[in-house]
Amino acid sequence: MIDKQVETEARLEPSVPGAPMARGLGGGIGSKLFLSYILVVAVGVLTLFLAVSYLAPTIFNRSMFGMMGDGMGMMGASMTRAMTESVTVTFREAVTSSLLLASLAGLVAAALASFFFTRRIVQPVRRMAVASHRIAAGHYAERVPAGGSDELADLRDSFNQMAASLEEDERRRLALIGDVAHELRTPLTTLEGYAEGLLDGVVEPSAATFALLHGETRRLRRLVDDLQELSRAEARQIPLHPRPVAPQKLVEVATARLSPQFVEKGLALALVVPAGLPAVLADKDRAVQVLTNLLGNALRYTPAGGEATVRVRALPHQVEFAVADTGIGIAPEHLPHLFERFYRVDASRSRARGGSGIGLTITRHLVEAQGGTIRAESPGAGQGSTFTFTLPSADRP
Ligand code: ADP
Repeated sequence: MIDKQVETEARLEPSVPGAPMARGLGGGIGSKLFLSYILVVAVGVLTLFLAVSYLAPTIFNRSMFGMMGDGMGMMGASMTRAMTESVTVTFREAVTSSLLLASLAGLVAAALASFFFTRRIVQPVRRMAVASHRIAAGHYAERVPAGGSDELADLRDSFNQMAASLEEDERRRLALIGDVAHELRTPLTTLEGYAEGLLDGVVEPSAATFALLHGETRRLRRLVDDLQELSRAEARQIPLHPRPVAPQKLVEVATARLSPQFVEKGLALALVVPAGLPAVLADKDRAVQVLTNLLGNALRYTPAGGEATVRVRALPHQVEFAVADTGIGIAPEHLPHLFERFYRVDASRSRARGGSGIGLTITRHLVEAQGGTIRAESPGAGQGSTFTFTLPSADRP
């Protein structure tokens, strides 16, 4: 199960096994920061102390003698020296106690500054470390509280983005397992029911029964094949060999494959392919597969007596292919979801026609992997639909 987002201080507790929480200030950034401040204070104080101890007395003596020594006799000179020495000692004592006070103030400032920066820097880092351990343990809803505008805030945002995409992947994975189980259950239930009926003698072992069983196993096989193709497409593992190919050629191959079925169902198939179209840069087999999938859907969702049309036209640096039909159409609320995995407008009707709801997802992957785009349009239910995709033209810069 995916966890609810919990953003309490409790996550700062070193409760996650292996989390780097056990490290206190002792070996962490906080103590290093504190030590570096102390070092700066110590160097400053030492320099000041040395400067004051060796330079100041000399300068001081020179000034005192300068002021008092001129014009005085031997007596005067020795008195001046005694006075100067006593003033120097007092001065040195005053400087030493001032420096001690300054060192103490520096120490306190260093402690406060390192405490403050530890809170600002180390805590968010620790939070991220704890959150990453929880994510690794399967709690994909884990996030670190956002806020601020410095580099740490950027790091937090990237971390949360990464967590969100992991959570989305996990959600899709679980949804896929659920969908696959659901899709497999229907044909398996039918097969099981017939097998039991045959065993109990309730169902006639007739040719019609075997044909039905055969139909269900074929549907299962198609579903498994589609799933395999889908997983390869989603993992971008379908090898593509793009070469310049004439759009006419793609349309020819795809329509030649399906025209017998159009004739059989009593559907017209029209082609509007102008001469002089630029070649497209595409994997021929995969581009034909895209057209075949769309034509197959037009065939599946258009009642006898209807018509499908393939239109091709050149756009700047790309060629557009449109497969339109006069079939059952699609209501507007379904249009944005058609390319999602297992999405079917009418699941029972689609399933009865052998549809798994994966075809358009694979088709979209194939188009996008070749640098194109795909969209679906329909004026509404019962009014036909048009699926349009583009492929880059071979002359694209
Ligand atoms: P399926 O294998 O079920 O046909 P697709 O991914 O090819 O799966 O299509 C998804 C859904 O989109 C279909 O179940 C159907 O509801 C709808 N759809 C696709 N093509 C058409 C079309 N030409 N006319 C009407 N509905 C269509």
